[in-house]
Parts: sequence; C-alpha cells; structure tokens
Amino acid sequence: MAYDYDLFVIGAGSGGVRASRIAAGHGARVGICEDYRVGGTCVIRGCVPKKLLVYGSKFAHEFEDAPAYGWSTGPVTHSWATLRDNVQKEVDRLNGTYVRLLESAGVRLQMGRGRLLDRHTVEVGGETFTTDKILVATGGRPEIPPVPGHQFAITSNEAFHLPDPLPRRIAIIGGGYIAVEFAGIFNGLGCEVDLVLRRDRVLRGFDEECRTVVHEALAQGGIRMRTETQIARIEATEGKPPFRLHTQSGGMFETDLVMYATGRVANTAGIGLEKAGVQLDKAGAVAVDEWSRSTAENIWAVGDVTDRINLTPVAIMEGHCFADSVFGKKPRKPDHRNVPSAVFCQPELATVGLTEEEATRTLGELRVFTAAFRPMKYTVSGRQQRTFMKLIVEAATDKVVGVHMVGDDAAELIQGLAVAVKAGATKAQFDATVGIHPTAGEEFVTMRSARAEPAPRQAAAE
Ligand code: FAD
Repeated sequence: MAYDYDLFVIGAGSGGVRASRIAAGHGARVGICEDYRVGGTCVIRGCVPKKLLVYGSKFAHEFEDAPAYGWSTGPVTHSWATLRDNVQKEVDRLNGTYVRLLESAGVRLQMGRGRLLDRHTVEVGGETFTTDKILVATGGRPEIPPVPGHQFAITSNEAFHLPDPLPRRIAIIGGGYIAVEFAGIFNGLGCEVDLVLRRDRVLRGFDEECRTVVHEALAQGGIRMRTETQIARIEATEGKPPFRLHTQSGGMFETDLVMYATGRVANTAGIGLEKAGVQLDKAGAVAVDEWSRSTAENIWAVGDVTDRINLTPVAIMEGHCFADSVFGKKPRKPDHRNVPSAVFCQPELATVGLTEEEATRTLGELRVFTAAFRPMKYTVSGRQQRTFMKLIVEAATDKVVGVHMVGDDAAELIQGLAVAVKAGATKAQFDATVGIHPTAGEEFVTMRSARAEPAPRQAAAE
C-alpha cells in the first residue's frame, strides 16, 4: 500500500524538527505537524527566552559591582517591557528560522494539532494523512496541582509575557531548576521573591553539597527561601492581587503573583496513542526501548514525551539517532550516559557524570576533591559570592566520574570538561593539563589533596 508519507512527525520541537530534517535528508518523504509554534518549548518558552532573561537580570549584579571598579553609574532603572519585547523578537526570529529549516529540508509542515486515528493515519485540523511510520515528539507541559485557588497562578509559559511593570512581589512554588532559574531572574529584576519548596533545599537529584551551596547562595542573594512549606490554598479578593498563600502548617503570606514550577507532564493525552497500541508508563510518558521505539511496531517517540532526560540536546540526540537508524541505514542508539547539564540560577550550577551520592552507591572507593573560593572579580567589588568545584574520582581506576561546579560561567566550563569525562579521562590526565591563569577553571587541574572527610550534609541525602 502506498502511504502519503514515509514518516509523519507529531510535534515540531527540538526532537521532532531534528528527526524530520535528518530523515528527509536520508530521502524519506516527511510530514510534520505543530499545534502551537514551530521550535517547541526550548525556542518558544524554554531554554532560549529563559537564558535571555537570565542575561537581562544579571546586569543588576554588574551595576552593583561597577563602582568598586571606578564606574559611576548614577540611578539605574529597568524596563521589563523592553526586555520582554526584545526577547520575544528573538523568539519570533528563531521561530521563522525553524520554519525555513523544515522547508529547505523538504519537510511538509502542517500547522494544527495532530491525532492518531490508527497506526498509519494521522489527522491534523480535519485533514487526514497516511504514513508508514510515525514519530511522537509532543514534548511536555507544566502542571499546576489542584490546590484551591490554583486558577490564580501562572506557570513558566506565562512568565515570559507578564504585563509591565513586573509585580513588586512574586512567589515561586517549586525547588527544581525552572523554579530557581526564575527566582534568580525576578530577583535580579528587582522583585521580592519568595521561593516555596516542600523540602529542605533546592534542586533535588543534584550533588548534595552543590545543592547546599546553591541554596545558601540564593538566600544570600536576597531570595526568601520558604523551605518545608506546602501551599494549602491561594486566596484573592475578586481574583486580583494581593494573593494570600495559606500553608499546610497554618501560616500565611502575601504576594502579587504566584508562579507554579512544581513539575511537567508528557503531552500524551487525547492524541489517539492508545488506539494505535502505544503504551504509556506510570507517569503517562510514552514507554520506549533503547531505540526510542514504542510498543507499536511502526511508532517511535523522542524527547520529553518519553521522560528520559528532559533536555533539548537529549531530545535532539534521540531524534537524530532515530532518523539515522530507521531511514539512514546507520543504526545508533542515543547514549544517555554522562549527559552534562546546567541550572542557570545565580550563581550557576553545572554538572557532568555522577553525583557523590550516586558514585558512593554504585562504585567502590572514591577520592573527592573540592575547592571553594571567592572569584577574583569579587575580591575588588566585595561581592559575597563564592565558587564551589568538585571532582569525583574512582580510586581503583583513577577515572574522573563526576565534575560539578557552582559559580559564574559554570555551564561554559563544564561543557569542555564533559568531553574529558566522556572520553574517560583520569585524574592524572587532569593534573597533567596546564591551567589557564588567572581563571576559575584552572582550579580543576590543580586540585591536589582529596578530601579526608565525607561531604557535609551527606547524611541529608534523600
Ligand atoms: P518540545 O520542544 O516541547 O516540542 C514539542 C512540540 O510538540 C511543541 O511545539 C508542542 O506545541 C507540539 N505539540 C504537542 N502536542 C501536539 C499535537 N498533538 N500536535 C501537534 N503538535 C503538538 N532544556 C535544556 O537543555 N536547557 C535549558 O536551559 C532548558 N530550559 C528550559 C526552561 C524552561 C522554562 C522549560 C519549560 C524547559 C527547558 N528546557 C531546557 C527543556 C527543553 O525545553 C525540553 O527538554 C525540549 O524542548 C524537549 O524537546 P521536545 O522536542 O521533546 O519537545
């Protein structure tokens, strides 16, 4: 039977766009549909606009530090409208670039929500298409828990479009990376930020010692950390601020905007996956094997909708591997080991490899090297911000199995070191590398003495 397409992709985000372009390059006839904006979460309401807002908010620190370096800045003001609109202009530009990338690869774009009618038929906006193979790349979306008054709260989706001026006070609920990143953004832009988290510290899942360093730095930077706090209900008079946030322990505080960043769920509802024999896991994500193949033989899934490692470069890797394997006669599986990642809070956290807790659980004896120091830039300005670095080495092999950093430019530094970790570099090879002076990064090649004691707060590991 002749199908309209060899491959139909549902969702034109990071994973779907990469997979469709590569598959088309291998000669497949490819269609793709998108129900919001081409580019997906990362480009439209994730990584890119978020990082631009981080850049925007960081100027606050520069202005504070500038006088010690001899600059007179005078009164400093900020226009949220200018930042917001300029960021959206860049988002629009990238959206156009992604559309053109699809066109030039020969991929047919169909705007509208896609739905599977059966294993070989997709419906988009009333039109149906038949296809040999299907890729589900629908990503995820934020989810707000159904506490009374939740309708007053926003998510990261709306945070990019807030009216001008920004509210005086913002409460962010959540302790994950999106919560701490937005806490830093709004704090830098002059809002009073409450960060409300269920646990004792931010960033569960990251290296415990790094979590503590970040947590304390956020508090020191002026964010009010409301730990071990759960919101019971949100009240507002006529739905307008101020909002009164009642906690489960009977407390109450007021804010002018409530943003939930407590979790994201896979976009799997209402798109006909069950009809096509695609099984979901317990969390509602598409269950896939190591080739990204679902339980339906001709249907694959990549990216956040599979809830493996929910990062753009991972979605891209999975999409590329799928297209090479299925259409390029170059079978290769995505490799989810040693994926570096960063949290663009202020100060930044970046990491590759195992946390100390994971290494302790899975490997034998370890040697752990740490360094904590005030960055040179702040010796003159007096800013009380410290940099923390950590190397975890497997004693038996001398391999560096984890590298972690909290401090300025951590993400840029760790990206380079991730190559070394991926290549299996040893501590001796780190030591044999000459530093660049004066930098923070040179610390990573001059860490001489392993820590004698276990990490403080390790007992608190969850
Ligand atoms: P998406 O990019 O979400 O694309 C899915 C697309 O499918 C969307 O465009 C959606 O509209 C569309 N869609 C959904 N259902 C349908 C349907 N039925 N029919 C048609 N289209 C549909 N990752 C990083 O690596 N670094 C970061 O700094 C980072 N920051 C982030 C900040 C925020 C605030 C958020 C929310 C995410 C961030 N991420 C970051 C995560 C990153 O955005 C995702 O991992 C990545 O976008 C996943 O790509 P994807 O292709 O799986 O899904």
